[in-house]
Amino acid sequence: MKLLEYEAKQLLAQAQIGIPRGQVIYTRTDTPQLDFPVVLKSQVPTGGRGKAGGVVIIEDDKQLEADIRKLFNLPIQGLLPTVLLAEEKLAIQKEYYLSLLVDRATASIRLVAHPNGGVEVEANDTDGFLNVEINHDVIPEVAERLQTLFAYPPDPLVSLLYNLFAAFTKNDALLLEINPLIITKTGQLVCGDCKMELDNASAFRHPDWQFEHEPLDRNYVVLNPNGTIATIANGAGLAMATVDAVVARGMTPANFLDIGGGATTENVYEALAKLQEFFHLEAIIVNIFAGITRCDQIAQAIIDAQARLPHLPPIFIRLAGTNFEEAVALLTAKNIPTLTTLEECLDKAAEVNK
Ligand code: GDP
Ligand code: MN
Repeated sequence: MKLLEYEAKQLLAQAQIGIPRGQVIYTRTDTPQLDFPVVLKSQVPTGGRGKAGGVVIIEDDKQLEADIRKLFNLPIQGLLPTVLLAEEKLAIQKEYYLSLLVDRATASIRLVAHPNGGVEVEANDTDGFLNVEINHDVIPEVAERLQTLFAYPPDPLVSLLYNLFAAFTKNDALLLEINPLIITKTGQLVCGDCKMELDNASAFRHPDWQFEHEPLDRNYVVLNPNGTIATIANGAGLAMATVDAVVARGMTPANFLDIGGGATTENVYEALAKLQEFFHLEAIIVNIFAGITRCDQIAQAIIDAQARLPHLPPIFIRLAGTNFEEAVALLTAKNIPTLTTLEECLDKAAEVNK
């Protein structure tokens, strides 16, 4: 689950990490109780807002209303904000890049940092990044390297790293990216922007996760944002087996998704709509064993969803169980083949996944 900036910053503040004074703007008529100049920021779950016009500096209250309206109506990478964040404008001396992330390949947490943060961070030479494994015991050493990289006094960096590491692990984060980490003209370290992704799989131990923008979905896990095969199954066991089968075929699963027992038109649509977040999908595998669920209901739901989501990649459907024949009739009428084994789905997916 990707948090919005203001939600991520609340978690930073709870971990004693410096963030700008700010206020969430919920409606077009909300006005921030902050001193000008104010920075107004669109709250969309994507980056590149600055470049897309989603970060506006407002000098006085003459422009305020118009700019609030403008930002609410400005789509960023196709996404409209439901809230905005207003913050005190910081006097920036320097912008750094700092992030922590789970590295699945080495089963560790890594720290990645660069002395030139901000909206052009991707333009930095890859050799200039500090990229080291981090854990609680090595924080003082990592802070020393960061001190050299950032040319900044050591003590605030050591406590920042302890606090960031705690925020990361306590919240079961997969990613915590601060860009820019700002040094103000008065020498304070403040997190100017924060992207945070939490691990949905650990939702069971987080009754504290009550975020406004996205109902927490315990049955959906992003496995790889660059994955090429999406999966939908009913039941956690079948969903895991489906993901494993994709891996065993040498393909990259994008997600785990258990749509549960009572799959309806609406939740099949929502499941397929969710998968649009993956930009490299080649195929979607649907693997349903229908007991209480009915195959024909699933088939009809997929047909309806496909009509509403014309840009989906090919869907390969394995159905078995209740009302199988009715489902075959529905799918055949739409020229959609019904497959009876997961193997067949994998064969078809492998054909398009070149
Ligand atoms: P992003 O483009 O989605 O990453 O949005 P950011 O929140 O990182 O903002 C982009 C850029 O706007 C930052 O790198 C800063 O240069 C600028 N910016 C954001 N907040 C402030 C602020 O409080 N003061 C000043 N001077 N610039 C800011
Ligand atoms: Mn940023």
